[in-house]
Amino acid sequence: MKILVVEDEKDLNRLIVKELESEGYVVESCFDGECAFDYLCMEEYDGVILDVMLPRMDGFEVLKRARKKGIRTPVLFLSAKSDIKDIVRGLDLGADDYLVKPFSFEELLARVRVMTRKKADVHENIYRCRDLVVDCNDRSVRRGERLIELSPKEFSILLYLIRNQNIVLTRAQIEANIWDSGYDGYSNVIDVYIRYLRKKIDSDSDFKMIQTIRGVGYILKDS
Ligand code: CA
Repeated sequence: MKILVVEDEKDLNRLIVKELESEGYVVESCFDGECAFDYLCMEEYDGVILDVMLPRMDGFEVLKRARKKGIRTPVLFLSAKSDIKDIVRGLDLGADDYLVKPFSFEELLARVRVMTRKKADVHENIYRCRDLVVDCNDRSVRRGERLIELSPKEFSILLYLIRNQNIVLTRAQIEANIWDSGYDGYSNVIDVYIRYLRKKIDSDSDFKMIQTIRGVGYILKDS
């Protein structure tokens, strides 16, 4: 994982770099906006920590130019500006997150983990929950080392569950996402497919991921 840190306060820049490196990230850093834009054009990063108030070009402008060039690197803005308008502006420009100074390094690291995970998902089109891996590139499903054969409908339902893992989904939500026609409220087709999925995904494993929430629907859980 490679992160770019852009912060003109030298001590803070050094501290962020040190913290990230101790977590195992590869880190590059610079101190002004123009330099940041050049770095972004030359290298592919898994995420950028971008200060807003910077010499030569501010963070918003850096992001605007980068997005215009088609650079999709996730961005976490850092700023002393707590004005809600600035936050909205940053997010509208396509930032992924916004952290107001002063912040704790614990929080910064947590947000960096979220940022880089998002990038990995979008980039690879692969979803994971514990040892279950759903790969949309070749539509393969694995639990641990085991390759699991699914029908197209089963795959669609599992994909919907894993994209929304740890969230309870009603039968109606699942139906609406998988079939174009509306949910008639009487059909038990979802229950039938869930039964098939359980057999294929969960039956050989101690941990059962697909769980029933009685009277509501289903959830794919990681713990
Ligand atoms: Ca600054």
